[in-house]
Amino acid sequence: MEVITPIKEIQQLALRLEKEGKKIGFVPTMGCLHDGHLSLIDLIRERSDILILSIFVNPAQFGVGEDLEKYPRNMERDLELCGQRKVDYIFAPQTDEIYPLEASTYVSEEGVSRGLCGEARPTHFKGVATICAKLFNLVRPSYVALGQKDAQQVVVLKRMILDLHFPIEVVTGPTIREQDGLAMSSRNSYLNDRQRQDALLIYRSLLAGKQLVDEKGIRNVDRVRAELMTVLRSGSLIRVNYAEVVDRENMKPEKEIELGRSMLVIAVWVDKIRLIDNIPLG
Ligand code: AMP
Repeated sequence: MEVITPIKEIQQLALRLEKEGKKIGFVPTMGCLHDGHLSLIDLIRERSDILILSIFVNPAQFGVGEDLEKYPRNMERDLELCGQRKVDYIFAPQTDEIYPLEASTYVSEEGVSRGLCGEARPTHFKGVATICAKLFNLVRPSYVALGQKDAQQVVVLKRMILDLHFPIEVVTGPTIREQDGLAMSSRNSYLNDRQRQDALLIYRSLLAGKQLVDEKGIRNVDRVRAELMTVLRSGSLIRVNYAEVVDRENMKPEKEIELGRSMLVIAVWVDKIRLIDNIPLG
């Protein structure tokens, strides 16, 4: 496994691999890797000749007052995990090479990024789309693996890939959870014991909502949302950002639940820590 930092080197590598007819599989991450990230490596290994994983804490996707400075970083451990998983290359660029001071070009998706997390974090998806467009140009992947945990991100990036004509196939992997059900996230490391107890209510509420749909045959959106809220409100540290039923293709609120199309999505703050999760219906 080789670690590449300079942009010029990753460009040369990607062009050489392309000339050799190699298909590149790519996993973009912000590092501090956990089993969720690693599952994405496994997901595209089969179909890729070469696996590249990027580690870059992208300042453009953090809003003012968010946790950019204290976002967990652990490069040494990340390299060890990637070595074990037989990643071929780690691309870990420098911030000032990705965003030189004079840079003034951004990518802004203006449809599916608008609601939900896009409303609470108005510059977030612009940062995500911009970094991914840059990374896709540099790495030239045939396949990109994205986690369903960040459901709106998947929809935004699929839209961007279509709109900007990137020749990339997106492969999505299911949400990997801790044993107690909490969706794995680098931000879980911020949680103390009490906060973590309340954070468990996120998945519990999703399961309660899904149970109403699956076992009681409820299709009424308000009824299911009320159930999510009841469970979430039992946590004294929880402030709900949204708890919605949306169409998983476009993230728009649903009027009625349809199995195979609807998804429950939640974002909460546990004290100051923002966590998201979702579960597909049907
Ligand atoms: P991040 O490092 O948080 O930017 O995430 C990098 C990639 O890993 C994104 O595609 C995420 O959706 C994905 N990911 C993060 N957490 C999980 C998880 N618990 N299960 C599956 N994929 C995940």
